[in-house]
This record gives sequence, structure tokens and C-alpha cells, in this order.
Amino acid sequence: MATSIEKQLIVFDFDWSLADQDSDRWIFEVLAPELRRKMKNLKEEVQWTDLVAMSLRELHSKGGTREQIEGALKIMPFHPAMIRSVLEVKAKLKPNTTFLCLSNANSVFISTILKEKGLDSLFDEVITNPAEWDPSGLLKLRRRIDPSEEQHKCTVGCSPNMCKGEELESFLERNSRQFDRVVYVGDGSNDFCPILRLRNEDMVFCRRHRGLEHRIANEGEKQGLKCQIKYWAGAWEAEELFKQL
Ligand SMILES: [Mg+2]
Ligand SMILES: [Zn+2]
Repeated sequence: MATSIEKQLIVFDFDWSLADQDSDRWIFEVLAPELRRKMKNLKEEVQWTDLVAMSLRELHSKGGTREQIEGALKIMPFHPAMIRSVLEVKAKLKPNTTFLCLSNANSVFISTILKEKGLDSLFDEVITNPAEWDPSGLLKLRRRIDPSEEQHKCTVGCSPNMCKGEELESFLERNSRQFDRVVYVGDGSNDFCPILRLRNEDMVFCRRHRGLEHRIANEGEKQGLKCQIKYWAGAWEAEELFKQL
């Protein structure tokens, strides 16, 4: 099987998949635990991206700086086995691998962490919520799909800011569906929609004990999930899976 794969696409969720933590929560755990508590309390009422944007504004108003946020991102847990794995896969000529990041975090968190880990040229494309520093040091974050624009049509339960399934479909379309195999690495419940788009020959590397594992168990069969499923818990186990590709 592996010998017939010329081109593959590896799609990475970011938080708890490529990285070994959740960036949206981590920076507040490091810099302002009272805001982290507030986020936990408001999680059901306020859309998550809006809640992170609001918390960033509050952190800024309390004197939190760009340097502090960047410092927190740079020390966020990130497993060396994951870095080894992706660099090894990327260096291989056969199969040739394209890397796509599909994340509900934001462009600044992701680029800051990738740069710190020496992975800034890993991804061919990063699809996430847009963010930018304003001159005062405030990190301005917006939903990928603005609330005033046409909303996505997903019925599988994706958050309003982005449907990862629709994003994956449009990426595959833009790339002429040229991949012999797609491997999706994810952990969260919002990674369920994109894996429903995968074929028999594709795979999901699902992180155990989190939302995606539960959704696969509860809804996978009902929703006609077709791809092969491999499980991992620690990044050293994901590394074993990557070595089998
Ligand atoms: Mg995740
Ligand atoms: Zn969706």
C-alpha cells in the first residue's frame, strides 16, 4: 500500500495535536489566571473566539504586554517527538508531503510558536482565525468568518467562526484533489466534521481521551465515517504512527 503513495496531505489541528497544550487557555493560565477562570465561566454563553478576543482586551487593559504573551507562547508545552516526526516526514521525497494547518486558535499564536520550535516553514498553508498586534501591544483577534458575513452551512456542529470540514474541502478543491492519501491529526470535537470528508484510503490519527475520540465512538458509524482510524495518546506514539506512513 505505502509504495503506491506518491503524494500525501497531512492536516494538523494545532492545540493538543501538533502542540501539547491549548494556546487560547495557556496564555491566560500563565499570565492572568483570574481571566482563565472568567473564560471557563462564560464559555457556554460567549462564542469561543469572541471570548478569547475579549479576554485579550481585558489582559491588555490590565497592563499585559506583547512581550509577556509571546513569552508565554514560547514556553508552551510542545513535545520533541512531534517536532522530530514532522521534520522527518517533510524531509522524505516519497511520499511527497504537503502540510496544512487547520486551527481554531489564531495566526499570531501559531506563527509565534512555530517560529520558536524551528517549524516556521513546515506548513504550506495555515487556515485559522486572523490576529494582529496593534501598536499599543493589543492582540486583535477576529473570527475567520465574520458574524456580519454569510455563515457556514455546516450541520455537524462546528463553531460559527469556522467549519473545518468546509475549509478542508475547499483546500482539496484548490489543490485539484491530487493527494493519494490524506492523514488528519486531531483531538477535538471540531475535528470530527473534517474527518467525515475523508475517503477509505485516508487516515485519522486521533488523540485519545478528548472530544474527537468520543465523537468517533458515538457518531462515527451513524455519520458514515470511512477513513482508517489510528489512536495515540503521547506524541511518542504519534511518532510511531508517522514512521509507518
Ligand atoms: Mg485541538
Ligand atoms: Zn463543519
